Amino acid sequence: MCKKLIPHYYAASIYEVPLDFYKKNGLKNLLLDLDNTLDSYRASFPNQRVQNLISGLKTQGYQIVIVSNNKGPRVKKYAEALDVAYLHSARKPFAFKFKKLMAKENFIPVETILIGDQLLTDVLASKRAHIKVLLTEKLVDEDQWTTRINRVIDRPLRRKLKRQNRLPSWRNFYE
Ligand SMILES: [Mg+2]
Repeated sequence: MCKKLIPHYYAASIYEVPLDFYKKNGLKNLLLDLDNTLDSYRASFPNQRVQNLISGLKTQGYQIVIVSNNKGPRVKKYAEALDVAYLHSARKPFAFKFKKLMAKENFIPVETILIGDQLLTDVLASKRAHIKVLLTEKLVDEDQWTTRINRVIDRPLRRKLKRQNRLPSWRNFYE
């Protein structure tokens, strides 16, 4: 198994992780995947649950950037509604855009975590950028067609990681 596909933390959903979890683990900068991590790809505007999460995270003092492979207009509209920074067309699993973003924002890798729902894009890109990564399950069943292709590989890989105890629950890192 490629080490670059093993996440540091695992949660069923970003919404089950306490707001101070990241702080307690020395993390200040949160890179958030959008589609199927924060919301359905069909949602063009953040609902109350997303708004509550983001405002809670802001209150904790985190720097937040939405990092999505999706296109400019979708990501821009969504991120602006939450008043957070964003990187669209992020080209995950490649890390060059990430690294550029982190240099621009003065994010130190050890203080930075990405939260995302896909092994092949989110986890791999994070590992390549030497930042932490928390893997979630997909939020809703529906995916865009590009993601559906990735899921064919993601699903059995995820099962294998689970069997091997390589999806460490965030609860093991929270007291
Ligand atoms: Mg996603």
